[in-house]
Amino acid sequence: PLVLGIETSCDETGVGIVHGERLLVDAVASSVDEHARFGGVVPEVASRAHLEAMVPTIERACADAGVSLRDLDAISVTSGPGLAGALMVGVASAKALALSLGIPLYGVNHLASHVAVDIVEHGPLPEPTMAMLVSGGHSSLLLVPDVTHDIRSLGATIDDAAGEAFDKVARVLGLPFPGGPHIDRAAADGQITIDFPRGLTSGRDMERHRFDFSFSGLKTAVARWVETRRVDGEDVPVADVAASFQEAVVDVLTRKAVLACREQGVDALQIGGGVAANSRLRAMAQARCDDAGLLLRVPRPGLCTDNGAMVASLGAQMLLKGRPASALDLPADSSMPVTDVQSGLPVDV
Ligand code: ATP
Ligand code: MG
Ligand code: FE
Repeated sequence: PLVLGIETSCDETGVGIVHGERLLVDAVASSVDEHARFGGVVPEVASRAHLEAMVPTIERACADAGVSLRDLDAISVTSGPGLAGALMVGVASAKALALSLGIPLYGVNHLASHVAVDIVEHGPLPEPTMAMLVSGGHSSLLLVPDVTHDIRSLGATIDDAAGEAFDKVARVLGLPFPGGPHIDRAAADGQITIDFPRGLTSGRDMERHRFDFSFSGLKTAVARWVETRRVDGEDVPVADVAASFQEAVVDVLTRKAVLACREQGVDALQIGGGVAANSRLRAMAQARCDDAGLLLRVPRPGLCTDNGAMVASLGAQMLLKGRPASALDLPADSSMPVTDVQSGLPVDV
């Protein structure tokens, strides 16, 4: 089936079109530059940018894919979680399209979409798959028996998300927002010279928070380390700090992900979300999965950060698996839990 997906949960207006498990087009208009000078995403600015970009991005996606709206079999849209005003622009647009074309609408979870995008990259997901979602707002280990309706959370961050830690540490180092890609690049020229803390990895912490993460202590440790050098009038070795910080994050993430696979008897690990674009995370995950005999699946970096193709991919899976369509009055739910894959479901399903 031909499915168009719309993503507006944060600052990317994404429109993707997939044909079953094949990606036809992924059109993204980002307002990231408008937010950069504020050091973070400004919700009102994001909503307005979505409004302006929505129709042109849909038109561009259809033109690039060589499809007409009339060819579509379903519309899929991010209904949460995310910024309320931003989500509403996408949800309203999707409802209008589905209603006027007379085709089913799927309101889907943004986080589940970060997992489902890998299907258009590498084919069907093994069932079950272990998914590690590492993004700007979330860091979770998820047991995924079926990405269209059964996602279980094994653990999550108890404070900052991994991407948030990258963005905050970048700020401390004087690198631009969003900081993840800048730390990744800076670290490539650095050495791992500083042993920063690995949160929730030992003793009682590990017992109580086996599959949880904590990055705020790490962020504070980096800030203190840098501040001490600055007070002493020493140069801050930005590349080395970036490499050492990145190593600490990636070490914890990959260690716990592999452990979760082993303990749950799952032999495939999928990594999704913006931080999955990180080159060191991809390399270490590959090495540790190889050692443990696990299949690793990570989409290309451009499909790790927010996009419309991921939403289209999940919608196409729902159609293929015969999941019921969402009600046309489905809500935009800014705090939609990761375990709710779809919104606007008929009450008796
Ligand atoms: P969520 O998916 O939790 O709602 P989000 O949609 O804002 O959050 P994504 O777009 O999935 O998040 O990811 C953005 C995050 O990914 C940012 O924090 C950014 O710094 C981080 N990021 C992007 N590229 C890299 C990279 N190469 N290395 C590390 N972090 C990265
Ligand atoms: Mg973004
Ligand atoms: Fe995201």
